Amino acid sequence: AFDVLVIGGGPAGASAAIYAARKGIRTGIAAERFGGQVLDTMGIENFISVSHTEGPKLAAALEQHVKDYDVDIMNLQRAEALIPAAQPGGLTEVRLANGASLKARTVILSTGARWRQMNVPGEDEYRNKGVAYCPHCDGPLFKGKRVAVIGGGNSGVEAAIDLAGIVAHVTLIEFDSQLRADEVLQRKLRSLPNVTIVTSGLTTEVLGDGNKVTGLVYKDRNGGALHTVELEGIFVQIGLVPNTEWLKGTIALTPRGEIEVDARGQTSVPGVFAAGDATTVPYKQIVIAMGEGSKAALSAFDFLIRSVPV
Ligand code: FAD
Repeated sequence: AFDVLVIGGGPAGASAAIYAARKGIRTGIAAERFGGQVLDTMGIENFISVSHTEGPKLAAALEQHVKDYDVDIMNLQRAEALIPAAQPGGLTEVRLANGASLKARTVILSTGARWRQMNVPGEDEYRNKGVAYCPHCDGPLFKGKRVAVIGGGNSGVEAAIDLAGIVAHVTLIEFDSQLRADEVLQRKLRSLPNVTIVTSGLTTEVLGDGNKVTGLVYKDRNGGALHTVELEGIFVQIGLVPNTEWLKGTIALTPRGEIEVDARGQTSVPGVFAAGDATTVPYKQIVIAMGEGSKAALSAFDFLIRSVPV
């Protein structure tokens, strides 16, 4: 059995594995896709102390750093069920999709999240070529340009307010007949001179010139007329979905599916910790996920030295 078993191989999981292994305890990491969301990222300019890097490069460095230690890496393995220890000090079990079962004295869940997509023509083709999901990450790339934000919930309206301070113009497109964001955010948004708000708009296509985004098409849901907006960037803000479906009913999740953790990364199940985008910790970013992953590993170590194995 492992002392610490990490599920998920993104920034949070890699940090957790390194911090655990540095304590000289038996550490394993199982990940569906080592690298996580970082693999889908092009330029990264807010990984502090590294002015610029690229996702695949950072993902390879994460894996290499884990390999510097005695960590059992199980890549391309999807966890399907978590079975809490039957008694304090007992072993927690994680069942994998391949039928195998892993046992550990502590488990760190770091399965991350995924951005909900529009699923319209052009979105895949122009991802990272104008189609973006993270305003904190990619906003500055569109300085002085025209962008759209898709989604009028809190995250969409926050993104539009944030971007309006950087870009030339923001078109916010909401599917519903009204924005769903908090009133105070809506008021702020409406006060900005370079924002156009479209409600009852369904984005139907991302347009591009083969290399980058040049516009989008949306349908007015009242009447069905199609409109084209010329722009350079599209920020999709229609939801971040935690990869926690497999944990439902086992540990406490919020209604949105985020794993509830305390300040030490402890979940509702003793010996089970969590870190990164899959949790309730606000602001989903690489440096935050790394900090939370190391914190969860230190908490797991603290748990181990205080518990008596059975
Ligand atoms: P993830 O990176 O999502 O990793 C989750 C891991 O868990 C993966 O290995 C996955 O395969 C695995 N997994 C999931 N389910 C299971 C399962 N059931 N069993 C086993 N393994 C599982 N942040 C920045 O700070 N700067 C940026 O510039 C930036 N740009 C971004 C650009 C894009 C396009 C995207 C999508 C995100 C960007 N982010 C950026 C956000 C950043 O990538 C995330 O905050 C960060 O990767 C979260 O790390 P994590 O380890 O919590 O989760």
